[in-house]
Amino acid sequence: MQATNVVRLQQKCCYNTEVMNLARQIEQYLPPQLLELVKGISGQAAERGERVYLVGGIVRDLLLGYPNFDFDLVVEGDAVKLAQQVAETTKAKLLSHRRFGTAKLRYENFTLDMATARRETYAQPGALPTVTPGTLKDDLIRRDFSINAMAISLTSNDYGELIDPYQGASNLDCRLIRILHPGSFRDDATRIIRGVRYEQRYGFEFEAQTARLLERDIPMLDTISGDRIRHELELIFEEKQPEFAIKRLGELGMLPRISPFLKSDGWLAEKFDRTRRLKKPSQLPLLYFCLLVYSSDEKEIEQFLARLNISAKLSRAMRDMLRLKTRLPLLDKSALKPSEIYYMLREYDPVAIQANAIASDSPIVHHHLQLFLTKLRYVRPSLDGEELKGLGISAGPEMGKVLQTLHKAKLDGEVRTRADEKKLALSLKTLNFNTDP
Ligand code: ATP
Repeated sequence: MQATNVVRLQQKCCYNTEVMNLARQIEQYLPPQLLELVKGISGQAAERGERVYLVGGIVRDLLLGYPNFDFDLVVEGDAVKLAQQVAETTKAKLLSHRRFGTAKLRYENFTLDMATARRETYAQPGALPTVTPGTLKDDLIRRDFSINAMAISLTSNDYGELIDPYQGASNLDCRLIRILHPGSFRDDATRIIRGVRYEQRYGFEFEAQTARLLERDIPMLDTISGDRIRHELELIFEEKQPEFAIKRLGELGMLPRISPFLKSDGWLAEKFDRTRRLKKPSQLPLLYFCLLVYSSDEKEIEQFLARLNISAKLSRAMRDMLRLKTRLPLLDKSALKPSEIYYMLREYDPVAIQANAIASDSPIVHHHLQLFLTKLRYVRPSLDGEELKGLGISAGPEMGKVLQTLHKAKLDGEVRTRADEKKLALSLKTLNFNTDP
């Protein structure tokens, strides 16, 4: 991302900001349909004596001039009731969690998250916080970094006003990531990983005290559940160039806290880059996960799967990846027939095959794996069971054999048309009759 669009908040770095009004920027930034909706919500809230704010990442990115379509609203009042009312008047699908005071409004082209302003307290490090309703300021102080702890009022009397009690705009201007209190990383060590993600995404630095506390609190990552660590890695894998954050986690000695054998090196960065060039966005996160553990052995991978509570789908892909990796020498021969490649690979998960194709340095192996993924796995005989029956081939083992022979012949280009297949099927039938006792 380029920081060319940064809204200059003041000439000098790290000054406290005066009251800033961002009404004009909001009007330019939000699509008109959404702007109208958000104003409507704020109007309905005002009738209920409540106030609504735009908060979090969208405020940060609006100030930076970066696109962000995560619309997070905080309500000083009852977000769930307000969302119910809005859903009725605007025909949105509503998903609400009364216990957490949160609601999601789903429209055709976008979703909008609403939450009751809340106060959080932590019983012990790494535990989920205890939540009670609070003011906007309570809601902002519970946040991870000052740059994420800003809000914009959407209420008509001060519409567009930036609420920035913790100097987020100033830190943004100085390109600094700063926690809001010294116990922040201890309360929730996922913030350490989040901080690295923002640092690398924006090319920012940790403010000096934050950097000291971050290093001190790295061991607190041990207090975080596998699900939460995995979620942070998933967020990193949604970044444009996740290798930067992974490298930084390595430099800071955080990777072994996640799993003892994890490391980041030039190899990984090169393979991540290669993965992106495949242009298969839906597979990207799975492939990044696989490549992260590619150099590990079976025991290490099992440890990783257990620590991060990895899904059954991804676990299968990683285990298959490792099994296939040990068999790659068999694919490193240029004279293989397509049918041989197919039958060697058909039992493996496609993500495992793709990960090996990216990881392998042999052009022959790479070619064979890609050939399977892009072509061979889709090849099927044109004739089906019914048609074979019509040719006098009986259902059961005989038909199974004929179908497999047709399949191999098609893979190897020995039959091309339906007529070729019929001819081959009939010849097999004759052969069967002749060889039957
Ligand atoms: P991104 O661009 O990465 O999506 P975001 O700021 O929208 O950035 P989210 O993960 O969607 O990030 O979180 C929304 C907001 O919730 C953040 O801006 C931050 O204020 C707050 N937040 C999220 N995770 C934490 C956390 N672990 N501790 C404190 N605040 C958090």
